[in-house]
Amino acid sequence: MTLGILIAMGTASGAAQTQVAAFGPENPFYAPSALPFHAPAFDKIKDSDYQPAIDAGMAQKLEEVEAIANNPAAPTFENTFVALERAGQLLDRVWNVFNCVTGANTNDDLQKLLTYETPRTTALDDEIHLNAKLFARVKAVYEKRASLHLDPESLRLVEYQYQEFVKAGANLSEEDKARLKKLNEEGSKLETDFLNRLLAAAKDGAYATSDPKALEGLSEAQKAAAAQAAQERKPAAAGKQQGWVIPLQNTTQQPILTFLTNRSTRQAIFENSWNRAERGDANDTRADIARLAQLRAEKGALLGYGSYAAWNLTDQMAETPKAAIDFLDALTPAATARATSEGKDMQALIDSEPSGFTLQPWDWEFYAEQVRKAKYDLDESQIRPYFELNSVLENGVFFAANKLYGITFKERKDIPVYQPDVRVFEVFDADGKALALWYCDYYKRDNKNGGAWMDSLVQQSKLLGNLPVVFNVANFEKPAQGQPALLSFDDVTTMFHEFGHGLHGMFANTEYPTLSGTQTPRDFVEFPSQFNEHWASDPAVFANYAKHYKTGEPMPAELAAKIKKSKTFNQGYALTEILAAARLDMEWHMLPGTAPLQNPDTFETDALQRTHLALAAVPPRYRSSYFLHIWDNGYQAGYYAYLWSEMLDDDAFQWFEDHGGLTRANGDRFRQMVLSRGNTEDLEKMYEVWRGGKPAIEPMLKVRGLKEEGK
Ligand SMILES: [Zn+2]
Repeated sequence: MTLGILIAMGTASGAAQTQVAAFGPENPFYAPSALPFHAPAFDKIKDSDYQPAIDAGMAQKLEEVEAIANNPAAPTFENTFVALERAGQLLDRVWNVFNCVTGANTNDDLQKLLTYETPRTTALDDEIHLNAKLFARVKAVYEKRASLHLDPESLRLVEYQYQEFVKAGANLSEEDKARLKKLNEEGSKLETDFLNRLLAAAKDGAYATSDPKALEGLSEAQKAAAAQAAQERKPAAAGKQQGWVIPLQNTTQQPILTFLTNRSTRQAIFENSWNRAERGDANDTRADIARLAQLRAEKGALLGYGSYAAWNLTDQMAETPKAAIDFLDALTPAATARATSEGKDMQALIDSEPSGFTLQPWDWEFYAEQVRKAKYDLDESQIRPYFELNSVLENGVFFAANKLYGITFKERKDIPVYQPDVRVFEVFDADGKALALWYCDYYKRDNKNGGAWMDSLVQQSKLLGNLPVVFNVANFEKPAQGQPALLSFDDVTTMFHEFGHGLHGMFANTEYPTLSGTQTPRDFVEFPSQFNEHWASDPAVFANYAKHYKTGEPMPAELAAKIKKSKTFNQGYALTEILAAARLDMEWHMLPGTAPLQNPDTFETDALQRTHLALAAVPPRYRSSYFLHIWDNGYQAGYYAYLWSEMLDDDAFQWFEDHGGLTRANGDRFRQMVLSRGNTEDLEKMYEVWRGGKPAIEPMLKVRGLKEEGK
């Protein structure tokens, strides 16, 4: 029956490609790759291979799951949980590669296929989680787990999987399942409506002017970009000036305000941003979000929790909204106190000018920039020659990993890649044994998504006999042929960050693929990556890689000191605006199931007052009405996770500093107790056992410069 649904879906939405090739041994995904580490055979994979392999993979997985659900034998850990871990290997094999190329090296056909296949794989997941026969077996094993003498990882698998089934609604009566389905349907429609309105609202919110005086302070390049934006929106009639347009960014603050000397332009752009989705027109999102919050609260109650947040946090490290809220509230006094004093510094600057006024949110970026220039200015062109990509990689990223964990790297030119700029390294453990394959794809391309990320091509699992194959992607400027790639310090940090995710994947040493490597909750997954960023500034590591690419000279001390100091610039504002957004998210998702429809205007004002985050010049990073993360991007009751991971990484680095820093003993202990463990243990306990206590916020405040050292 379930198979029928999938086929029906296929015909309803139409195949992405009219002629899907048959799936057989000639398809490179048919069997595990014969290359070392089962590395994908990119030299053999054609775009037309993906769809037949994905379709066959989904059908095979469904068949395997049906066989588990219908097994006449009594449910056991082996025939249910382990069997589920073994199911879907073909789909994983092809999807991991498909996910990699659609992110880093895509084209129109692949994007079309992605749009077609993504909802089908999500539907397959839902099918599996709401399969009543399967859940009965899962539940039977779960209920007798204490008497099964399972090893700790197996026990964790039982508890984790059971929790995921329950979270998806498997434990509900048929009537409540139908109600849940209705709520989910209405919810996803509202999410799409919200997104569409917001996209239109952001577009309409662009600032347009035909007065050149309005743009004073912008560079010629910025003005040219604004003229181009105007031309793209509404080509001017021949001989007519089309003016300038400044499109809105997602956040409340608009980076362009940094440069605009015309205060009324700053105010107009800021107000366009702040009110973008609250103008009472067709793009007003307030009715959508009020209803979304209400039905999410109902969903939380239906699933047995006091709120949506309480339900959604059950599988996160924080576990409860209270833990997340207590954490955010503990940061608030230091953040708002510093933001207030930053504001006072700027007010003093304003008062020293002839036309005095009171600092407003639209003035912040502009005056902060004046302070930054005076105190922290970094000349990029002076810094970049010391950050040559290969030196950063080998003398920085690899060097730190070698000092901490004893691992070594050897480039493999014989492993096929999906694009000629991609490089592959074999990673060896301290004892010389093969550990992993690591790919890096650092240069910007038109067919690559923006930003930087890490993911797996092969997920480590002892059960399946797989060693990890992971990749890092970034968007650094590609140098001209024969020229060195000279990076900014942000780029350097990005390399250490993504490699930190890479280590989390490469050190994975777990039995079950579900619990392996980076497959950890949102509030934990950025911890290993952000932790690894710290080594970029470690004096021994920094001195080893930050050398002039021509002369080999180390970076002058005063330049290095400026880089360090600039990290604490404007941190009162930066932390306060994130805290305000994170608390708004929590307030919306803490509503009880019986809560009436809220008025977004008063709700937001009251929430900021209540949480001591209502600072006139420091608005939340996102206002409720354009907070895309929480209404359509899966971060609902989860925006706190960014700050939570930051607490962990700063606290963890403090432990290293207290224990001698960059040593093998420290690295091995961290690897053994944290990095290799994936999600095989309760993460809070895992952390506390390694740290010897709970994570504290003081190191984070210290790193942001919000706490004097020694206090
Ligand atoms: Zn990351």
